[in-house]
Amino acid sequence: MNPRNALNFSGGPGALPETVLQQLSEALIREPVTGLSVLGISHRSKWFAEVVDELEANILGLLGIQRGYQVLFLQGGATQQFSMIPMTLLRGVSAPAEYLQTGYWSQKAIPEARREGPVRVLWNGQPEQYQRLPQAYELASAPDAPYLHYASNETVEGMQFQYVPGLDSVPRICDMSSDFLSRPCPAERYALIYAHAQKNIGPAGVTVVLLRDEIIERVPDNLPGFLDYRAQANARSNFNTPPVFAIYTMLLVTRWLKQDIGSLSAMDQINQQKAQRVYAQLDASNGFYRGRARREDRSLMNVSFNLATPELEQQFLRSAEAAGLSGLGGHRSVGGLRASLYNAVTLAAVDTLVSFMADFAHQHRHAAPG
Ligand SMILES: *Cc1c(COP(=O)(O)O)cnc(C)c1O
Repeated sequence: MNPRNALNFSGGPGALPETVLQQLSEALIREPVTGLSVLGISHRSKWFAEVVDELEANILGLLGIQRGYQVLFLQGGATQQFSMIPMTLLRGVSAPAEYLQTGYWSQKAIPEARREGPVRVLWNGQPEQYQRLPQAYELASAPDAPYLHYASNETVEGMQFQYVPGLDSVPRICDMSSDFLSRPCPAERYALIYAHAQKNIGPAGVTVVLLRDEIIERVPDNLPGFLDYRAQANARSNFNTPPVFAIYTMLLVTRWLKQDIGSLSAMDQINQQKAQRVYAQLDASNGFYRGRARREDRSLMNVSFNLATPELEQQFLRSAEAAGLSGLGGHRSVGGLRASLYNAVTLAAVDTLVSFMADFAHQHRHAAPG
């Protein structure tokens, strides 16, 4: 057990389970099935085809999906999906695609979509500094929209949808990069879900795309092969050399979820307890810690908060580092502080963070008048 690594609250790349890191460290030298280093196994091997099959089955199994969907493992991160989605569904279409602009990441997807076709921003939280998410009644979706795009968890601002927005008749597309496999998800209500691995389920280099068969049938014929969901599906995620190591890591993470944690409901219960303990500390601090998001929209994955002054925040970060706690700085776009509580962050780690926060507030309370 590496005690420093156990206290990593980074927003991404995020913490991975200790048992997965142990298996990876062995597999770097000798992957147990092949006897080869995982970094030197061919992507055309039977072993790798079995890794992809098992990983796909694990993801579908954890989400409870029986049929009608494919799982792709692509490169280019979530950012490439910002473009691949409108290239596939918006070229030559006259009705606007609908986008929810709820924070830093969902906002990044919008200019990429505008390159491909018309976009209607159905809700924009920027005038309110992205401190809240829309409520269902605020979203006037058009029944003929080609699709609705949103992010289930705004990683920077620390806000997470607690309901599924949009009309079931409009294909629903969701960026779940920072909360995929953190809780049960009604996946059948989505046409396409994507999540890069590096927040919650693996290292950078691979992005999961779960999509309905109908989406694959609608891919235009003139896309570059690399950006074509059909070509990628036909190649079984082996269109060109895939990131074998990142995909193998994700397999180990899904095995950990199934075997050690048990299910996404069990994972959710742990994640709820973790978040509840940190938010309880914010709320009990008499305004010393100031949560960024409206209470109803608080994220279980990313707790974004501020102190009275940027100087005090810097002091918090220095003291946290000295106490062995890493990754607590806020995103460069908003500053402040952020504790990311991804799946691999343990309850024990959260308890250490919470008692550090209580001590820090006690010592510095005089610095925060009012
Ligand atoms: C981090 C993040 C991204 C950016 O992903 P890349 O893989 O770096 O392109 C996109 N969406 C969300 C929700 C994120 O948290």
